[in-house]
Amino acid sequence: MPAGLPLNNKVALITGSTSGIGLALAEALAKAGANIMLNGLGDQGEIETIRTQMADTHNVDVRYHNADMTCPDAIADLVAHTQSAFGRLDIAIANAGIQHVAPVDEFPIEKWDAILAINLSSAFHLTRAALPIMKAQKSGRIINMASAHALVASPYKSAYVAAKHGLAGLTKTVALEIAQDGITCNAICPGYVKTPLVEAQIAPTAKARGISEEAVVRDVLLAAQPTKAFVEYDHLAGMLLYLVSDAGASVNGAVLSIDGGWTAQ
Ligand code: NAD
Repeated sequence: MPAGLPLNNKVALITGSTSGIGLALAEALAKAGANIMLNGLGDQGEIETIRTQMADTHNVDVRYHNADMTCPDAIADLVAHTQSAFGRLDIAIANAGIQHVAPVDEFPIEKWDAILAINLSSAFHLTRAALPIMKAQKSGRIINMASAHALVASPYKSAYVAAKHGLAGLTKTVALEIAQDGITCNAICPGYVKTPLVEAQIAPTAKARGISEEAVVRDVLLAAQPTKAFVEYDHLAGMLLYLVSDAGASVNGAVLSIDGGWTAQ
């Protein structure tokens, strides 16, 4: 293990870290010296390649657990497994998320249930399981990956917007409960980041609105983002590394925008 890095001997668990933002944040935490518990769906061979490359590149211990974020028992097992593998848990990031785009009166009920389970309830189950460990350590950082959609709405995303608004409420409530335990709980609210989740929205949004895919990117996705540029992984990693640092100890219950000015409007 490399000496002298800010997160040496720290342990970070990131749900949904086999792709997109979660993978980028896991990489950033590993680069800062943390040992990592990966989680998420995907091809097991590809995940094993991600795991070994991350461990080799950053010379840290990287493990993987396949907990499905729709299963409370699996989430509890993910946390228990992290503690038994590493002996501690310093950073817990509820990042896994899915999207479905449809008018509310046509919204498939099973999609509503899945989005609420994965994007909101899994953060509750993660926090519920992680807090006893963090309280015993008298230290910890809980980060919920929310969205600009935790603060404002867009049409055709009723479940996602409801779940992300709920995540902001969960974040604030947990922050008040753990404020004197050496733990913080905060939410990060990105604008659009060009991940597989966003790429997958382009065609359905074009269909729902009856416009071209190019017009979706220009006039729908980045229409609300005054910078007219996607938020980059490094911008999110910078905020995360601050929140998990000692300097971030007084940031608690914050719902932090990183959206190029979207929610300033
Ligand atoms: P992504 O599709 O690239 O990654 C999602 C991750 O969640 C993957 O690792 C996937 O395997 C995992 N996942 C999905 N369902 C799961 C389940 N049932 N159990 C376990 N893991 C599961 O998406 P992303 O864009 O990187 O999104 C990550 C988070 O960031 C989400 O919460 C999303 O809402 C949020 N977010 C994304 C954007 C954006 O523009 N991409 C903006 C704001 C917020």
